Amino acid sequence: MDQPELSIVIPFLNEEQVLPLLRERLVKIRDRPAAWELLFVSDGSTDGSTRFIEAWASEDPSVKLIVLTRNFGHQNAVSAGLSFATGNYVGIMDADLQDEPEVLLEMYRTLTREKADVVYAVRTSRTEPKLKRFFYFVFYRLYLYLADSPVQADSGDFCVMSRRAVRLLLTLPEKLRFVRGLRTWIGLPSRPFPISRPARAAGFPQYSLHKLTKLAFSGLTSFSTRPLRVGFVCGSILCVGAVIGALTYLGIALFTNIHLAAPGFSTLVIVLLFSNGLIFLYLGILGEYIGQMFMEVKARPSFIVERTINLERTQGSDARD
Ligand code: UDP
Ligand code: MG
Repeated sequence: MDQPELSIVIPFLNEEQVLPLLRERLVKIRDRPAAWELLFVSDGSTDGSTRFIEAWASEDPSVKLIVLTRNFGHQNAVSAGLSFATGNYVGIMDADLQDEPEVLLEMYRTLTREKADVVYAVRTSRTEPKLKRFFYFVFYRLYLYLADSPVQADSGDFCVMSRRAVRLLLTLPEKLRFVRGLRTWIGLPSRPFPISRPARAAGFPQYSLHKLTKLAFSGLTSFSTRPLRVGFVCGSILCVGAVIGALTYLGIALFTNIHLAAPGFSTLVIVLLFSNGLIFLYLGILGEYIGQMFMEVKARPSFIVERTINLERTQGSDARD
């Protein structure tokens, strides 16, 4: 088959409720490139969603499926899809219709018109619960401050990229992948594309708070060493404070006759707790970096492919014989 003009990577985890709706929306799209491929990546789905895509793929050769051996996480599933994509342009979207296929095609048209390498969606409004929105807000502001190559606030993985951008992304060796950060890091011409993000069409969010926190931490620590300096600054302030405090107490004890026995005990405990807290917090940050180094040094693949449908080439780690 000819090289497709557009590949769309769609990772999913247990989305049987929403996939039929996604299919309806995708087949309805008229003004699309004649040759496209839909690359579904089953990230360890245990419900009927993989079977649904299998059935669809048997009717339509442009629908392709990559089944991973287990749940490797959304970012790794996206990487798996990217490594199989053959299109001149490659789009990434969620399966739950929060990223709308019609918008993806608009982004694709913008990309071809503007001769950029990346067009990425920026959310101007969200429909998620307030608490989740608050976490997103804090994360992106912190990331903007810390990262050496900042991603635009409120941009996600929803984007369309040129083949050149995808090829560069795939040559980056890291195993812990924060796709939107890497996409910015490569530095090719990019254009933001404002969208308002609708609510999920059906089913339940698969990104638990735990997974989101993990993503936030790996995003922050894999793009900046600035947090490592926080410990140095806090430690210095505390040490200077301690010296000033000690001198003050010494002065009071030597040159006045105010008694300094039991009073102040609680202050002491508070200060101790606070400084110990800071030490542990900082050890946590160090641990995060050491953990990342550990994972990278082991150099295990970011995903393992169990089987594929409508795809021939073997890419990355493969459990197929
Ligand atoms: N997803 C995945 N692996 C995971 C978690 C999520 O492939 O471990 C998929 C999920 O099926 C969906 C997309 O990633 O297509 C975004 O997930 P979700 O809608 O739960 O995230 P949210 O939109 O709440 O950030
Ligand atoms: Mg979603």
